[in-house]
Amino acid sequence: MNFREERITITHTADEYDKYLNAVVPPVFLNSLHLYDRFEDYLDAAENPCQEGKFVYGRDGNPTVHILERKIAKLEHGTRAVVFASGMGAAAAAIMATCVSGSHVVCMRDVYQPVKRFLNNFCIPRFGMKVTYVSGNDLDEVEAAMKQPNTSLMILESPATFVFRVVDLEAVTKLAHKYGVKTYIDNTCLTPLFQKPLDMGIDIVMHTMSKYIGGHSDIIGGVLTSKDEELMCRLITTVREWYASILGPMEAWLAIRGLRTLPVRVKEHQRIGLEVARYLEKQPKVKRVYYTGLESHPQAELIKKQQKGHTSLMSLELDASPEEAVKFINRLHLFGKGCSWGGYESLAIAPLYRAEQEELHFLQADRGLIRLYCGLEGSESLIDDLDRAFAGM
Ligand SMILES: *Cc1c(COP(=O)(O)O)cnc(C)c1O
Repeated sequence: MNFREERITITHTADEYDKYLNAVVPPVFLNSLHLYDRFEDYLDAAENPCQEGKFVYGRDGNPTVHILERKIAKLEHGTRAVVFASGMGAAAAAIMATCVSGSHVVCMRDVYQPVKRFLNNFCIPRFGMKVTYVSGNDLDEVEAAMKQPNTSLMILESPATFVFRVVDLEAVTKLAHKYGVKTYIDNTCLTPLFQKPLDMGIDIVMHTMSKYIGGHSDIIGGVLTSKDEELMCRLITTVREWYASILGPMEAWLAIRGLRTLPVRVKEHQRIGLEVARYLEKQPKVKRVYYTGLESHPQAELIKKQQKGHTSLMSLELDASPEEAVKFINRLHLFGKGCSWGGYESLAIAPLYRAEQEELHFLQADRGLIRLYCGLEGSESLIDDLDRAFAGM
């Protein structure tokens, strides 16, 4: 992958804003409002959102934020991107914009946990919504769920965390469109560089920019991208305005800086991820490695068809108890123990250690599952660190 088109997009999209006083990097517009010479021009801008180059108030839009939006929209092959103060802000806005009270949502079982909590603990009890969880791989199951009345939205994540299952995005979107259901995917894991879901028919793509896009563990942010102008301009932007969840200009500027090195970083993360996964697969104390880059992945063919590359996230199961898995994690020095991922630092956690039996059964995963995030310290150092942890078993 040389990302020829993407590298140009990253630097030259929204150039007319970028070239402020010929500065080589776009400025941070730290202003809460924009002034107009005539009241009528102000009214026109205020009453017709989404007009290019017109800004009114910082809760609705900001020039630095919009530079970022235009770059991401183009990278993702969409027409419009809307950025949020966090990935969850973006996810919640997509659900609020596509559903009404009583709506039915079809959701993959292994999507990002807080999204499920938002559905289960908020949307269902407060708005009388219904949710059917599916694996995403059984198309008959997906179709049966979509036939239920008031189905508005299908929530996808591919590859999904924990066991890195992938879903046939073209097949699922084809079904969804047959039933008039909008499709949403969390594409964070692969970035706009390694997977382009809009090209496969998905309606809304979400990324948290807190991970690879920001890339330096220093911002929280999210983004939704689509080709549906009506949805983005009338609904999603309005939800962002009312929920007051726009990204700050400083964070937008940091995300733009992150984008500049994204092609270089994801390639290196992929290289390191592959080496670590291949090493893990050979370890006698490892029962299973879950990684989309391995030839042994049960869906290798589908992965090759729809992904252009791989994340540096993976999971493994040791031939040991969950308690021993925790001891293994604690013997690692280079892998920090913490949530999140996407920055320079490698991380290791047991994300399901405290999960209930019911949840484990639901996810078909083990309590001792270890998730590794490979940062940029280098595969040799990471493998040395893992070697030491295995030696202590
Ligand atoms: C972190 C994460 C989110 C949530 O993003 P925030 O910016 O923390 O709100 C959503 N999806 C995935 C896959 C994530 O890893």
